[in-house]
Amino acid sequence: MHNHPVSLVTGASRGIGSAIAKSLGALEHAVLVNYRENKDLADAVVTEIINAGGDAVSVQGDVGCGEDRQRLIVESLDRFGRLDVLVNNAGITSPGRVDLLEASEISWDAVFATNLKGPFFLSQQAALAMMPLIHEEQIPGGKIINISSLSSYAASVNRADYCLTKAAMGMMTKLFGCRLAEEKIQVFELCPGIIDSDMTSPVKEKYNSLISGGLTPIRRWGVPEDVAKAVMAIVSDSFPFSTGECINVDGGFHIRSI
Ligand code: NAP
Repeated sequence: MHNHPVSLVTGASRGIGSAIAKSLGALEHAVLVNYRENKDLADAVVTEIINAGGDAVSVQGDVGCGEDRQRLIVESLDRFGRLDVLVNNAGITSPGRVDLLEASEISWDAVFATNLKGPFFLSQQAALAMMPLIHEEQIPGGKIINISSLSSYAASVNRADYCLTKAAMGMMTKLFGCRLAEEKIQVFELCPGIIDSDMTSPVKEKYNSLISGGLTPIRRWGVPEDVAKAVMAIVSDSFPFSTGECINVDGGFHIRSI
C-alpha cells in the first residue's frame, strides 16, 4: 500500500482538473490523472508532478461509461493499494450553447452522462472502495469533492442541460454527505464562478466585458488555481465538522446586491 494518500481527479488533463491534480501532488498525494482524449496533456501533468518529487499516473476513461469508471477505481487499488480522495471534476458544457427551445436530446444525454451520471456512480464506486479500507483502519477516512458551478443556481437559457446537471450535483452532494458521514467519508461541492479555461474560451469577450462592468465584486477572472486552493483546504482537513457543504469560489458572484 502507498505510504501517502491517493487521489483520483477526473478530467485532469486540462483546466481546473490539472491545477487540482498538481496541487494534490504538491501535498504528497499520489494522483490518478484521468483524461478522456488528451493523453499527451495528461502525461504532461503526470511528468510535472513526478518532477516536483511526487507520484502520479495518467488513466484514460470516459466518466460517462460504467466500465471505464470501474477501471479507474481498480487502477487506484491495483497500483497504489488505496483510494482516499475522489475529485469529480470532469465536465462538459452544453454543446453549441443553443436556446432551450431548440435543445436536443443528444446534447442532454451527453451532458448528463458526463456531468451527473458519471460523478454519481463514480462516487458510489469510490465509497465502496474506501469503506473497507476505513473500517480496517488502513486509511483514516475519505473525501469526495464535486466540482459544480454557479450554473447550479444561475439560469443560462442557452445551457439548460448543463445548469440542470449542476443543480442536481448539489443534491447529490447532500445525499452522499448524509449517507457517508457514518462511513467517515466527507462530501463537498465547490461552485466555481467564471474560470479561465478551454471551457470558457469561446465566451471570453462576453465575460471580459461583464467582469469589467462589475458582474463579480472581485473584478477578475478566476483561475484554475483558485479552485485548487479550495480543494487543498478540504483535503488538508480544514473542515473536519462539515459535510454536504457547498463552497463558492466565484469572486463573490453569488451575492445579490442592489
Ligand atoms: P475544460 O478546460 O474543458 O477541461 C475539461 C476536462 O474534463 C478535460 O481534462 C477533459 O479531458 C475532461 N473530460 C471531459 N469529458 C470527460 C469525460 N466524459 N470523461 C473524462 N474526462 C472528461 O473544463 P474546465 O473549465 O477545467 O472545467 C472543469 C470542471 O469545472 C467542469 O465540471 C466544469 O463544469 C466546472 N466549471 C468550470 C467553470 C469555468 O468557468 N471554466 C466554471 C464553473 C464550473 P480531455 O482533455 O481528455 O478532453
